[in-house]
Amino acid sequence: MPPDHGGCPDPAGYIEAPGQDCPLCPRLVAYRHANRQANPDWFNAPVPSFGPAGAPLLIVGMAPGVKGANRTGRPFTGDYAGMLLYQTLLKFGLAQGHYDARPDDGLSLERVRVVNAVRCVPPANLPQPLETRTCNRYLAAELATPGIRTILALGVLAHAATLRALGLPATRPKFKHGQQIRLPDGRHLTDSYHVSRYNTNTGVLTTPMFESVIQALLPTLEPP
Ligand code: SF4
Repeated sequence: MPPDHGGCPDPAGYIEAPGQDCPLCPRLVAYRHANRQANPDWFNAPVPSFGPAGAPLLIVGMAPGVKGANRTGRPFTGDYAGMLLYQTLLKFGLAQGHYDARPDDGLSLERVRVVNAVRCVPPANLPQPLETRTCNRYLAAELATPGIRTILALGVLAHAATLRALGLPATRPKFKHGQQIRLPDGRHLTDSYHVSRYNTNTGVLTTPMFESVIQALLPTLEPP
């Protein structure tokens, strides 16, 4: 049963997305099957994007967490990473409702869509380079959606995957927290450290740091 996406994720159905049994990454398929055996009531499938298609802000994460998005079926939902992300979006009026770490918590996104660079949960939270490249076709489909003005990449992997999906060199420029790049197509790419529990626990990313990133990109969401 697909999760409630709190709005209209893709009403026209025109953004290419993987099926529930996408076979393209053998290691991730095996892990998916193992998770389905062990926890049949979990989502255990490529996690769909969350938020309205064509939103001016596309937030790109890394991959689902096994007990987070892989369990609930909604990006950044069910484990710690969603706390900072969605609380911040709520604070800046980019989300409505209440985040309660469940796909039926009523949270809806306004002018934001959230996607992972790799749609399937990887063992040990770490996708392999080939898996990231293989799933890049779905990120490219998201990035081709009309209406996107700014992409927020959460972490090095999301930064590189975004550039690659746009047909650009994956490390030029390199990831740098807080930087805002003007892409050749005129859109903006902003980098932030990932909102993971590890990063917040170690002080790599604090709440004020992440709020600064979101605040700085708000003007880029408006038409020129
Ligand atoms: S990570 Fe992407 S390409 Fe690989 S199996 Fe999952 S949905 Fe398919």
